[in-house]
Amino acid sequence: LPDPILVSACLLGLQTRYDNACKGHHGVLDWLHRHRKIPVPVCPEQLAGLPTPRSRTFFCGGDGEAVLDAKAQVVSDEGENRSAIFLHGARETLKVARLSGCRQALLKERSPSCGVHQVYCAEKIIAGRGVATALLRRNGLEVFSEEDLSGMNS
Ligand code: SF4
Repeated sequence: LPDPILVSACLLGLQTRYDNACKGHHGVLDWLHRHRKIPVPVCPEQLAGLPTPRSRTFFCGGDGEAVLDAKAQVVSDEGENRSAIFLHGARETLKVARLSGCRQALLKERSPSCGVHQVYCAEKIIAGRGVATALLRRNGLEVFSEEDLSGMNS
């Protein structure tokens, strides 16, 4: 049977990005189709209630794992602490995963919510996870990014 899978809405071409740009990833739809996956689109930041467009955000002091442990913050370009709203968006995303029976998630690399292997800490790219990715993984979901697809057979 086709498998439901959470997918970052922006990877499907939906205009959910902070800058309102439309940047779908051409390999994603093809991969979903070839692997008989049913995409469940999620944007953790919109699920948190943030508007689009919205301020750019980055980590300060760690990544999404550290935010879950209250050891780092998500900070906006204006210097506001957005950790609480990002945590809310991550919890809403986990709710959608549970309601739809998703055990996997395909999320957008380097986003403060969705990053899988890398994120921005201040202006630097560091190894780490977004807040939603960290929470999904802690709850048993397998999470990978669009940059992992070329090496994946299942
Ligand atoms: Fe895409 Fe995730 Fe950012 Fe939403 S929060 S725009 S789904 S990368």
